[in-house]
Amino acid sequence: MEYEVIIGLEIHSELKTDSKLFCSCKNDFGGEPNTRCCPVCLGLPGTLPVLNRHALELAVRAGLAMNCKISGFSKFDRKNYFYPDMPKAYQTTQYNLPVCYDGYVEIEVDGITKRIGIERIHLEEDAGKLIHDAYGSGSLVDYNRCGVPLIEIVTRPEMNSAEEARALFETIKSILEYTGVSDCKMQEGSLRADVNLSVRPKGQKQFGTRTEMKNLNSIRAVYRASQAEAQRQIEILERGGIVYQETRRWDDRKGESMAMRNKEESMDYRYFPEPDLLPVIIGEEWVASVEKNMPELPRSRRDRYVNEFGIPKYDADLITMNKKLSDIFDRAVAVCGKPKLASNFIMTDIMRRINENGEEILDANLTGDNFGQVLLFLDRGDITHAAAIKVIDKIVETGEEPKHIIDGLELWVQRDEDLINNAVTSVLEANRPALDDFLAGKDKAFGFLMGQVMSKLKGKCDPAQVREVLMKEIDKSAGRQN
Ligand code: ADP
Ligand code: MG
Ligand code: ZN
Repeated sequence: MEYEVIIGLEIHSELKTDSKLFCSCKNDFGGEPNTRCCPVCLGLPGTLPVLNRHALELAVRAGLAMNCKISGFSKFDRKNYFYPDMPKAYQTTQYNLPVCYDGYVEIEVDGITKRIGIERIHLEEDAGKLIHDAYGSGSLVDYNRCGVPLIEIVTRPEMNSAEEARALFETIKSILEYTGVSDCKMQEGSLRADVNLSVRPKGQKQFGTRTEMKNLNSIRAVYRASQAEAQRQIEILERGGIVYQETRRWDDRKGESMAMRNKEESMDYRYFPEPDLLPVIIGEEWVASVEKNMPELPRSRRDRYVNEFGIPKYDADLITMNKKLSDIFDRAVAVCGKPKLASNFIMTDIMRRINENGEEILDANLTGDNFGQVLLFLDRGDITHAAAIKVIDKIVETGEEPKHIIDGLELWVQRDEDLINNAVTSVLEANRPALDDFLAGKDKAFGFLMGQVMSKLKGKCDPAQVREVLMKEIDKSAGRQN
């Protein structure tokens, strides 16, 4: 039997505001525990919340960027639950009248564009943090995060594979970064996703029972959790078993999930309108002014790269997906004037470094200016490609000026012809069999000889020049042979 996978995501994103959602405490990650809170975000009796206008603006910005309608009338509700991370015993959130609703985001998987519906985006406050196991058998609680503004983005159940779920999460992350709505620092928990997933036999009309995996905090985790859960549910159905509606915890280290609890129904939360906050009336002119001040979105940037710079769409997509990378690219192009060189370098060497060492290298010392400088030297033939990579690594590590690094490591290309001629002659003498192979038509042998010469020159000469000399010498010896 063939199965169809159905996935809907709920994405929580902390907003980049100066202060919290309903009080003037600082909205910043970390800090000494329980130093960034006040009677309002601790929910002490008699205090009154006041909505942060900037948080509302950022929610509207996110909605506009995701093609949502903006509610003219919206309100807050209390979601009641008891857990020590929330001293008020309720979360102030939005139940039936969210700020934004009925939008969509376009994702691309294997060159095919697909529209995923956004059901709603609502504003709510974050909870505090429990720290387990740090203090004997008890737990500690830090309320600094209490009241930090969040948006929750709820998609329609319209993704059909782990690849699509990953693409959606990535796309939304990049939209939030571009619009300045969130810094999306996943290692700090400022962006996290819940994966809702069900499977059904192909052709069946009604949805299967879904499970929900909460708080996935990396793109990779969203992908792997979706894959594993689809697999798990299909296996259950194949065995004739039943999938239970439940909340599951994904263990990214083990690559598997465990049942956590039965899924609660929304009536369990006894939602009711927040009596301490007025409804929010959003005027059309205000929405129009938010729209007018929207930063450039990833899509339009991508089109600019394709149309103005002639960069392949695939490359442009990958570069623009990551705002920091794309900012670095833009600036580097302004410095060196070579968009194709810059994009090729990013697509190979920078991407590899990001994959190996994480996105943080873009927070470190690499900037559009120093990257552009390196490309300028590379383009002029002042350094080799291999040297350029060394310089980039050093920049990431120390933030030193490219020129200093190249001086220090003696990476400037040597143009001394005698030096190259000598290296070529001695390599050809020492590697007679490889030379014969090449003359007999084995093209691969050339790469070997080239490698030998470059290594003899310690990589300090221009490969194009070396290549030319090597070719000339080989031709000469071929002439001698004939
Ligand atoms: P809740 O508030 O209980 O989490 P919602 O109805 O708001 O439930 O849905 C939450 C998420 O679950 C949405 O992203 C939605 O797309 C997704 N979802 C709903 N039904 C299914 C299903 N059968 N299979 C997969 N995802 C689903
Ligand atoms: Mg949910
Ligand atoms: Zn406060």
